Amino acid sequence: MPNRRAFILGSIAAATAPAIFSRANAAGPENSPRPSESAQKLIRGATVVTMDPKIGDVLRADILIEGGRIAVVAPHIDAPSAEIIDGTGRIVVPGLINAHMHTWQTCLRGVAANWTLLEYFRQVHAGLATLFKPEDIYISNLAGALNQINCGTTTLVDWCHNNPTPAHTDAAIDGLEESGIRAAFFHGSPKPDPKPGQKHFSEIPHPRSEVERLTASRFNGKNPQLSLGLAILGPHYSTLEVSMHDFALAKEFGLVASMHQGGGPAKTPDGWEKLDAAGLLGRQINIVHGNNLSDAQLAHFVDLGMSFSVAPENEMIQGHGYPITGRLRKLGASPALGVDLESGLSGDMFTVARMALNMQRALDNAASRAERGAIPDTSSVRTREALEWATMSGARMLGMEDRLGSITPGKQADLVILDARLLNMQPVLDPINTVVTQTGIVNVEAVLIAGQFRKRDGRLLYPRMEECLEQLNKSGRRIAGALGILT
Ligand SMILES: [Zn+2]
Repeated sequence: MPNRRAFILGSIAAATAPAIFSRANAAGPENSPRPSESAQKLIRGATVVTMDPKIGDVLRADILIEGGRIAVVAPHIDAPSAEIIDGTGRIVVPGLINAHMHTWQTCLRGVAANWTLLEYFRQVHAGLATLFKPEDIYISNLAGALNQINCGTTTLVDWCHNNPTPAHTDAAIDGLEESGIRAAFFHGSPKPDPKPGQKHFSEIPHPRSEVERLTASRFNGKNPQLSLGLAILGPHYSTLEVSMHDFALAKEFGLVASMHQGGGPAKTPDGWEKLDAAGLLGRQINIVHGNNLSDAQLAHFVDLGMSFSVAPENEMIQGHGYPITGRLRKLGASPALGVDLESGLSGDMFTVARMALNMQRALDNAASRAERGAIPDTSSVRTREALEWATMSGARMLGMEDRLGSITPGKQADLVILDARLLNMQPVLDPINTVVTQTGIVNVEAVLIAGQFRKRDGRLLYPRMEECLEQLNKSGRRIAGALGILT
């Protein structure tokens, strides 16, 4: 049963410590409302799923938002100058954190839906990716990030590995910034087939000059909703020399380094051991997928505090193998969750959480039948855990658990208001079960990021949606047209 303490608390003055691995974490614009919005907002009389066991998982409460942060969560709050937001019949949950997505592929929606990983590498990375101009990256990132907000994601880890030029990179960041999402931009490099005389991408170190440029310009703290990470190749996709260089680069700049692990044979099979011996592994390292890591490797990496991003739907369809969710749980760890790619999958993080939960239950149920000839007495994973993966685990992956991931006074007011009065949610008998099993996009009534509405009354507040969709279509048709697959 969830902890249902009734009275809770908060400190309006509560300050959060700076994020450990984020370089863009200074207080500033993110804590200032737009001129048209009130500085104080009060969500009145909602069911609040806090995901903070210290204050109670589920409360009937008011939430006071001040200066972009959650100021107080309590059964009744008096705030005469606050804008009142009616929470009756609504469930408020922490903004979801999408811990892995190649947002640049938004204009390719659906093209990869029938492709395995090998086809995807050939058709997307060695093919379609090479046709992207900066404006294609921009519109994909803008539309993809807006869609994330629409679906209840407030923090997006944009794992951007199609940056052949600084202009592409800047366009990607422009798209994220314009959407209003809280974005962790993970800068990566493209993976084309080499032309004669060119090196293979696995032999090319991450460009130091770009990291220096980005930390000095786009990620200098002026927009605290943006932070930088490195999307590197890692030992599975690069030489040892490149891996050593890239891990050391991330460490030097204090950035989270994220890399895919799995999908075919590793480029450097003993790479992880060598990186470990060089002291380059630790909490700042994030592994995506990780399906083929040995039990010993996984246990050691968990001990080192490394994080893991699971993309359950993609891992199931592209051929990666079963998600490592259950293996992590046995080690006392938990995965962050990601959509991965909208070129083949839905972008809705509620769907991702359900996929991760039920995939693991299926594996556990099958194991039980095999081991003792019977299904388990009860579900091996509770619904709360799935919501934890989509919120707090993502915050931990970014080193931002002191700012994001739960409805806790002092944290950023990144909140999703779900309309639970609708047909698909009534009656709400157990709010966490309802949120995890029943939520659809239709229920995402409002989304606040740093206390500012980005979606309200069921509508995104982005003003130029028609232009955005027109440009997205134009990009997608031009690029996918190269495959001759358009109908
Ligand atoms: Zn990926």
